[in-house]
Amino acid sequence: MCEEQNDHTHPHDSDSDSSRRPPSRRGILRWGMAAAPVAAGLTAMAWPDRATAEATTASGGGAFYRTVRGDTLRGIAGRYLGSEQRWAELYRLNRDVLDAHGGEPSPGLRLALPESPDGAATRSFAPLPATAKPLPVPPEGYRLDRIGDTFYAVTAGGTQAAFLVTRTGVVVIDAPPSLAEALPAAIRRVTDRKVTHLVYSHDHADHTANASAFGDVIRIAHTATAERIKASRDPGRPMPTVTFTDSHRLDVGGERLLLSYPGPNHETGNILIHAPRQRAAMMVDVVMPGWAPFRAWGTADSVPGVLRAHDLLATMDLDTYIGGHVHRLGTKKDIETSREFVRDLWSETGKAIAATDMGPFFGKVEAGNNWAGFDLYLQAVADKVEPVIHRKWLGRLGAVDVFTRENALTVALSHIVDAPQDL
Ligand SMILES: [Zn+2]
Repeated sequence: MCEEQNDHTHPHDSDSDSSRRPPSRRGILRWGMAAAPVAAGLTAMAWPDRATAEATTASGGGAFYRTVRGDTLRGIAGRYLGSEQRWAELYRLNRDVLDAHGGEPSPGLRLALPESPDGAATRSFAPLPATAKPLPVPPEGYRLDRIGDTFYAVTAGGTQAAFLVTRTGVVVIDAPPSLAEALPAAIRRVTDRKVTHLVYSHDHADHTANASAFGDVIRIAHTATAERIKASRDPGRPMPTVTFTDSHRLDVGGERLLLSYPGPNHETGNILIHAPRQRAAMMVDVVMPGWAPFRAWGTADSVPGVLRAHDLLATMDLDTYIGGHVHRLGTKKDIETSREFVRDLWSETGKAIAATDMGPFFGKVEAGNNWAGFDLYLQAVADKVEPVIHRKWLGRLGAVDVFTRENALTVALSHIVDAPQDL
């Protein structure tokens, strides 16, 4: 093993002497060089020489690593980036060369390493695709989208609420604390009519905890949402005055909203709100237009229910979808793309479970430590799922590289314990 291969603090230094210093202790810790396989890996590690440094820098990385037999992206990331979790950065940086080899670090590949060898404590993420990026925010500080002639959505800081203007008053859907100023201001901009009704899409505080600000109005929610609101003891979420279990038709001042409940999904009690005349639907925290799901499948009460909610939305004749988060309204296409993603993650996880024998993992831990055995097994399943999803979806949806691993773990558990027979 050559000393020059160990000091990675000056990848762009044109002074070749600086790349021949012995490794510092800090450098060793930084690169996690402790185990024997690491030393073997390092023999294949090389620094760009004067001739190649420019080209390597231009492609976005300083150092590179030459793969050897038995390498995995997770292993390389663990050794050289300080955390196995950073394998996706390696993948992104070397996507072309890896994809040409079936996504695997076959022996002999030259893989660029991320720019900062000091980056063990940081994490970098794939850029957002254009369809996931924030939209310009007007001087008012929020976006106001008109849907048809009387329905409106208000978006600020990645959260959305909606309101429907009728002849006799305004129906508000949700009351996010983060829109405490924007939502009333947007209503005042459009009409001087009073808010008479408030629909709770579900119970989660980030969408509803400012409901009390609308005063003594008619509040409508699913019975399960009412139960949760009661349990939350939150003065910001006053109890609903009207509840329903399956469906509810809300006719106010010549306008209509059809509220329905397809069963447990993102949250038990999370409803579909359909504005038929405006060809719009709002179902909060199910589809994130342009984005992959939030962690733990969007903190789902029911993983299969989220898939079924996607199926339901895909059958609707809609122009506009309001998802309650991210930066813009959705379209039918966004619903279909999100459905394709969640189904893909569901089925790839199912395949990985079928291909992974649980038994050996329990043999690697203390007898009876079922948690540890099960965790090794779930992580092995996620190891199979994560690269496949990245390969297919990075660039198509935003933040695929952020929560896919956790979502694979969540979905794996759902396959095992929910075990739905309809999906
Ligand atoms: Zn929610």
